Amino acid sequence: MASDLFTPQKKERKTAVVTGAAGFLGSHLCDRLLAAGYRVIGLDNLLTGSIHNIGHLAGHEDFRFVKHDVSHFIYIPGQVDFVFHFASPASPIDYLEYPIPTLKVGAHGTHNTLGLAKSKGATFLLASTSEVYGDPLVHPQTEDYWGNVNPIGPRGVYDEAKRFAEAMTMAYHRHHRLDTKIVRIFNTYGPRMRLDDGRVVPAFIGQALEDQPLTVFGDGSQTRSFCYVSDLIEGIFRLAHSDEHDPVNIGNPAEMTIRQFAEAILRITGKNLPIESRPLPEDDPKIRQPDISKARRQLDWEPKVDFEEGIRCTIEYFSDFLQSRA
Ligand code: UDP
Repeated sequence: MASDLFTPQKKERKTAVVTGAAGFLGSHLCDRLLAAGYRVIGLDNLLTGSIHNIGHLAGHEDFRFVKHDVSHFIYIPGQVDFVFHFASPASPIDYLEYPIPTLKVGAHGTHNTLGLAKSKGATFLLASTSEVYGDPLVHPQTEDYWGNVNPIGPRGVYDEAKRFAEAMTMAYHRHHRLDTKIVRIFNTYGPRMRLDDGRVVPAFIGQALEDQPLTVFGDGSQTRSFCYVSDLIEGIFRLAHSDEHDPVNIGNPAEMTIRQFAEAILRITGKNLPIESRPLPEDDPKIRQPDISKARRQLDWEPKVDFEEGIRCTIEYFSDFLQSRA
């Protein structure tokens, strides 16, 4: 694979490999790196990602896309300075549909991307998740909390894959002295989410735009804290260039219940639709809120986009998307 990469390499230009480049977060990360002057090699097997997310980068002289499943050996010729491992199904319905690829990309995919970083002497950044805290018994979640995860429940395929990925990353850091970073990503939303990925933000916005009832799972008292994608990507960019090797939470601490979130979507879209109850999925975390003191301290980072503004941009994106499909 990958015979058509950058030639010749100019030493002063940094090259980053992004796995999961056609995903929601991976595609935004590619944009951020290109804007900062990086050359970017994007890998994705397009299992849950979409080539449309990087369609605007087609023909970009500093971007190359390679369709590849990083659970298999990765060959990249030439210089690589950063490896960002973002490949994984990441929404509950996706990882329930693809449980074994989820475990494989967390295990083999992390091993292969770490091996790539080691062979190139590159910095490695793992996209981990607040799911490593499971259904947390500590609130808000600090990085030193070890979590409350059911390894054999339906979400275990994702949670344990990411926990293994963190363990593998720290092993490469300690044993091979690789420069590694781990970001624990909390609920993030924004343009390029898949309307049908089952997550609550596209689900409720899609339902509101199509005049369908909003489906609240359980009694809606469970909480989440939603971060706009540009804030998250900025935090990750800063982490990649920091000296921090232990995990860092990146997310927006503004917490709300899922019922409050449904009401906010109805208010912002100006719709008067019913809110209907659906069964609560197994092991659905009851509370989630990042403690971001470490990111504030170590990265001088905090979210800037407020909920209303971020949600309006996301509604606009989904509304355009639905119109283009009509
Ligand atoms: N949820 C909901 N209705 C939906 C989709 C999700 O009430 O149509 C709830 C879900 O049960 C969870 C929260 O919204 O409590 C966030 O779910 P999501 O799938 O976005 O991500 P999670 O934070 O659970 O990984």
